[in-house]
Amino acid sequence: MIIAIDGPAGAGKSTIARIIAKRLSFLYIDTGAMYRALTLKVLETDIDLKETKKIIELASNINIDLTNNDDGSLKLLLDGKDVSKEIREPQISKFVSDIAKIKEVRLLMLKLQRKLGLQKDSVLDGRDIGTVVFPDANKKFYLDAHFKERVKRRHLELNDLGKKIDYDDVKQDLSNRDTIDSTRETAPLKKADDALYIDTTEMTIEQVVNKIFESL
Ligand code: C5P
Repeated sequence: MIIAIDGPAGAGKSTIARIIAKRLSFLYIDTGAMYRALTLKVLETDIDLKETKKIIELASNINIDLTNNDDGSLKLLLDGKDVSKEIREPQISKFVSDIAKIKEVRLLMLKLQRKLGLQKDSVLDGRDIGTVVFPDANKKFYLDAHFKERVKRRHLELNDLGKKIDYDDVKQDLSNRDTIDSTRETAPLKKADDALYIDTTEMTIEQVVNKIFESL
């Protein structure tokens, strides 16, 4: 069984997807983490973001593996190294959408995401899961929230992780990624026609989880 959860940053996708996967004993696949891992590699390798060919070459030569820890959280291995923490750095968020918009990069990730998702019952969260990666997913959800609320949540989340980042920088990052993710040519952020739309602005995590379980 495949459950697809899409939506913009800060709408609650990862938190909700992790809880749902854990309760159902499904694999939780955070597809954003995969784009983040590639971005980390690009920044470490000092490739200029304009050098699309080099980025594609790098993407075809790295090894991304994804599993879940006992508490249901994500463990992401990049060429065998656990980079689950590094990929959350603001520097990665700043550049990830520029890399995720490259068509060939998306094709490579799509193959990997399908392979992972077909191995086991899974909950995938991302931007194009219900539209492109698993258009035949058994259940699809699109989580959204007002921009201000999303910025507030992401700011709090980063603070909780011990990252000192200004509210205005988070606002800028989200606005920038919203624009790139929803206007790119390949697989833009979009609600699938058959996805259940949930505005989480005024909802608690538990309420969103319950709403999803009600429709499973
Ligand atoms: O989910 P998260 O915010 O960590 O994703 C980081 C970035 O990865 C997104 O802003 C987007 O550019 C890209 N992404 C994507 N397609 C997905 C998941 C993430 O393009 N399925």
